Amino acid sequence: MKTLMKPVLIAILMVFVLASGCNKGSDESPINLFSVEDDIEFGKSVEAEIAANPQDFPVLDKATYPEAYQHLERIRDSILNTGLLYYEDKFEWKVRIIRDDTMLNAFATPGGYMYFYTGLIKYLDDESQFAGVMAHEMSHADLRHSTSMLTKAYGVQMLLSILLGQANSQLADIVANLAYGLGELAYSRTMEYQADEKAVEYLYQTSYDARGIAGFFLKLDDAPQTPQFLSTHPSPENRIEKINEKWTELGGKEGNTYVESYEAFKASLP
Ligand SMILES: [Zn+2]
Repeated sequence: MKTLMKPVLIAILMVFVLASGCNKGSDESPINLFSVEDDIEFGKSVEAEIAANPQDFPVLDKATYPEAYQHLERIRDSILNTGLLYYEDKFEWKVRIIRDDTMLNAFATPGGYMYFYTGLIKYLDDESQFAGVMAHEMSHADLRHSTSMLTKAYGVQMLLSILLGQANSQLADIVANLAYGLGELAYSRTMEYQADEKAVEYLYQTSYDARGIAGFFLKLDDAPQTPQFLSTHPSPENRIEKINEKWTELGGKEGNTYVESYEAFKASLP
């Protein structure tokens, strides 16, 4: 599917990945027209777009802030080392920090390129909360939620026509719709619950408190702003309940929150 690299599709992916909403009440589509290789190609394209736009995405330089990246990669590796991710070896799982203290945000592209804003890192209290958020993002990539939603939103026939170059006028419509901020391409409620559940499963195999992501949602009650990537997700209360259910189902093992190492992580940021 070489034609997938069409700039306009990359633009669609950009909008999708960065979209904040979710498609209320819709169910996850089991159909995914794209190959795993497509997910990786999309991810690389988005990564390149982000790298080319330092004004919009001021990515923290790894050579200048090696300690911050060591923390980030250490947390990522503890999740990868659970052996629970389907594409543990196939995806690069590159992690980047975006310098913007006003953004409580994180996102992962298809193929597992992940971005965390300094605002989110500084907002959280301990490492289990951050690891929970990271595990959630990793599971969206690992379960290939982006390309499932893209398949669902535009339909197999439509996407095939676009990919075969037979539907260029529809492409213009899609792009126009996306430009007006329609949220059809964002993750479904089901996908969000699924990513929360996976986050608990992953962390349960580490020394972290597997309910870390619930700690994050609890904290949101006092938040001055709802984080962008959660604004229309299922309600935090429902999510906390399901996270606790999953944790109990797994055996209710207490884990560590790692406040000290997380403080060191924060202190390594500009
Ligand atoms: Zn999510």
